[in-house]
Amino acid sequence: MKNIIGAITCTLISYAIAICGYMFTHGCSLGDLAEISVEDKRFLLVLLVAQTIIVWTYFFYILTIRKRNANRLKTEENRQLLLQRRYQIVIDNSGEMMYEISLNNDACISTDKIREKFGWDIPKQVDNLDVRKLFQILHVHPEDEALFYNSTSGLITNKMTKEITVRMQRADGTYIWCNIIYIPLLDGDNNMVSIVGKIEDVDSEVKEKERLEHQSRTDGLTGLMNKQTFEEEAMKFLMTSISTGSALLFIDMDYFKDVNDKFGHTMGDRAIRDIALKLQVIFANCDMVSRFGGDEFLIFVKNIPRDTLLDKLAWAVEKLKETYSNGVDTVNLSASIGVAYCMADKIAYNTLLEAADNSLYAAKELGRSRYIIRDVYS
Ligand code: GH3
Ligand code: MG
Repeated sequence: MKNIIGAITCTLISYAIAICGYMFTHGCSLGDLAEISVEDKRFLLVLLVAQTIIVWTYFFYILTIRKRNANRLKTEENRQLLLQRRYQIVIDNSGEMMYEISLNNDACISTDKIREKFGWDIPKQVDNLDVRKLFQILHVHPEDEALFYNSTSGLITNKMTKEITVRMQRADGTYIWCNIIYIPLLDGDNNMVSIVGKIEDVDSEVKEKERLEHQSRTDGLTGLMNKQTFEEEAMKFLMTSISTGSALLFIDMDYFKDVNDKFGHTMGDRAIRDIALKLQVIFANCDMVSRFGGDEFLIFVKNIPRDTLLDKLAWAVEKLKETYSNGVDTVNLSASIGVAYCMADKIAYNTLLEAADNSLYAAKELGRSRYIIRDVYS
């Protein structure tokens, strides 16, 4: 309707311009128009008809183009809508926790899965998104902050795809290990318009891995560090730290076989666990306590003054004395301790172990339930 009124108006204006032009060129007024010659009347009529045809043809042309554009726009909108619905169906049925954070307007990807898992939503649009905001949005554990910042900074500054495993908080306050993937969505001019990503719950996998790692590093019966881990840790310390004044202790229980023989293997196991607990009490401060195997234990005491070490050794010999009795049989358990004391840095682990072993042998030879200390210089 608006177009028709416009066309009529333009037609009338063109008539007025043509008549005014005629009046101006012929020097006549509006009242003189009735008396103009038949040829001029015919000329004016032809002019007006031609103008009418031109104006209306033009308007129909414009109308057709507008309609075509409107149709194209509608088709494109429909296509976009269908695309969006298609994505949504795929995402909803994939069971994946997908998200999209738009930097400009509302993002198209969203899923209830994140709210179902965590009890909160990821906002669809965030102004001036940076790593700090992303850290808060994803409710990452404060202890994982440095890791998160380091591995996520490239996402926004370099528009790089990133993947990270961190703990994320749920609404009830508990944390679960999650793998977060973020992919920057770039437009034709390489500007980031949003971050599209996925969150995977990898809590059970991470915990199982931690459990297996812990298991591979500990002794099954006592929960102490095992021989291999002890060796690795002690070697690392000896090679990288000032180790003068440190000591390696080799402990072997005296007459332990008798506990097994007289009270059974289960009692023997319990005795080994008790010894482990006592050693953890005596060597609690940053010392490394491990079970070497059987009734043998290895302890590495870092940077200890000789007097303090001697006090500890005397305490250990006393504390490890235990009497087992069932009314018929009695076993007096005790410990012999061989000690290698570092008098210099960078002494090889095996040198210390050998020295501690020799000291232990000497302690056994001298009648057990005692310690022998040997200084090692290189
Ligand atoms: P010594 O005074 O010379 O040290 O003699 P011992 O009787 O303590 O015997 P030894 O140290 O030579 O051997 C340790 C014994 O500990 C051998 C084995 O019967 C027992 N044993 C080794 N591993 C275990 C274990 O896991 N559980 C139990 N119950 N006994 C073990
Ligand atoms: Mg023994």
